[in-house]
Amino acid sequence: MEQDTIAAISTAIANGGIGMIRISGKDAVSVADRVLRLHGGKTLSDMKSHTIHYGHVYDEDEIIDEVMVTLMRGPKSYTREDVIEINCHGGVYVLKKILELVISRGARLAEPGEFTKRAFLNGRIDLSQAESVMEMIQAKNEYALRSSVRQLSGRLSDEIRNIRSELLHETAYIESALDDPEHISLDGYTVPFKEKLEHIRERLQHLLSTSENGRILKEGISTVIVGKPNAGKSSLLNTLLNEERAIVTNIAGTTRDVLEEQLNLNGILLRVTDTAGIRETKNPVEQIGVEKARESMKDADLILYVVDTSTELDENDMEIMKLLDQTPALILLNKSDLAPKVTAQEMEHQLHAFCGSETSFRMISVSAKEGSGMDELEAAVREMFLSCEVKGEDEMYVTNVRHKAALSDALSSVLLVLKSMEDGMPEDVYTIDLMNAYRSLGLILGEEVEEDLVNEIFQSFCMGK
Ligand code: GDP
Repeated sequence: MEQDTIAAISTAIANGGIGMIRISGKDAVSVADRVLRLHGGKTLSDMKSHTIHYGHVYDEDEIIDEVMVTLMRGPKSYTREDVIEINCHGGVYVLKKILELVISRGARLAEPGEFTKRAFLNGRIDLSQAESVMEMIQAKNEYALRSSVRQLSGRLSDEIRNIRSELLHETAYIESALDDPEHISLDGYTVPFKEKLEHIRERLQHLLSTSENGRILKEGISTVIVGKPNAGKSSLLNTLLNEERAIVTNIAGTTRDVLEEQLNLNGILLRVTDTAGIRETKNPVEQIGVEKARESMKDADLILYVVDTSTELDENDMEIMKLLDQTPALILLNKSDLAPKVTAQEMEHQLHAFCGSETSFRMISVSAKEGSGMDELEAAVREMFLSCEVKGEDEMYVTNVRHKAALSDALSSVLLVLKSMEDGMPEDVYTIDLMNAYRSLGLILGEEVEEDLVNEIFQSFCMGK
């Protein structure tokens, strides 16, 4: 258990109605008492745990702010240590002033994520739960939020613990039998053991299979809009952005000169990249730049191919269709409000010619100008990316790459045991791989994790959390 007392501003460093300074550690109460004068003349040290008090923060005799102070004595607190939360008026200057005061009276400035790190080190939560706190803060949509709440409540950890305890049980049984063959026999053991192992394999595979949805939920669907000049790409983007449900942010690319728009389609995030090219429609011939399209289509999760149905297909369309076979694509038959020169049948015929008749594409008739077809577009995206699994309210998603890697290692070890059984290897070989699987899963919970990794994980947290 770390001994010193830490403090930080836990609300955003911006002017707001209320701001909060959190103090945690063995001296939290006395440090707070040094800067506070409570109504009625008492001190926090006299008060019961889990109570809230009205008073003022003072610097010597100068009044700094009027505050409400919450007292939570360990171990029933976020960090399991004594925790004080000073709720003050939420101005940046006031917050900083109170924090400085608290630090001058015996606390130290907390590192990013240090409160949560203490909660982990003091055994209140495991590492995957700690990570879910961060994911919750960063959640960009309701699914990501729900998934992180479930992870925080220990849903993933429980499943991992169950699998681990089964692995440990089997290992212990085999080892005791090998140590003491007179009393414990492995006769007839193989069949039930294999069944149990198959079941563990299925559960690991299931968790891993949720990670793709998990990634989509967390990071959004990287989307590229393609189509010949004047097909209606920027109109489509604008229509989607103007939808009431869309939450819009502009992110100027940091690494490349990519402009990204984020669309929140009823809880699913579409990250539309390379919109710079779409927006600058003044140079239509260069705008499509097949090379450029190829480049951005390569890394996309989804392609929205906008077809201008009011004009004949041209060589630009042919070039695009050639590129369509790799990434999931939706064909948007745009300008449905005008007389059609291209029909769905003709598109299908052409697409088959370019991508083979076994590839099927979903086509949606839209009018970017009039905004029709947008509900169908949204439904199609949902169906393509979230399959049936999001419907299950209880579904757990693995959203963290670190967890995914550990699950994958554990699965490989389990598969090795199954292989050893098939090859008729002796039982003592199984236990090595069983224990490897056990250890890999332990990493998710934060057992036997290197200190450096722990530090790295918590450093990505925000201040005050
Ligand atoms: P881009 O070059 O693919 O980005 O195409 P724009 O979005 O700039 O659209 C080109 C032209 O087509 C503009 O004059 C739009 O108003 C028009 N347009 C786009 N979508 C539709 C549509 O659904 N119906 C009609 N009638 N016109 C459209």
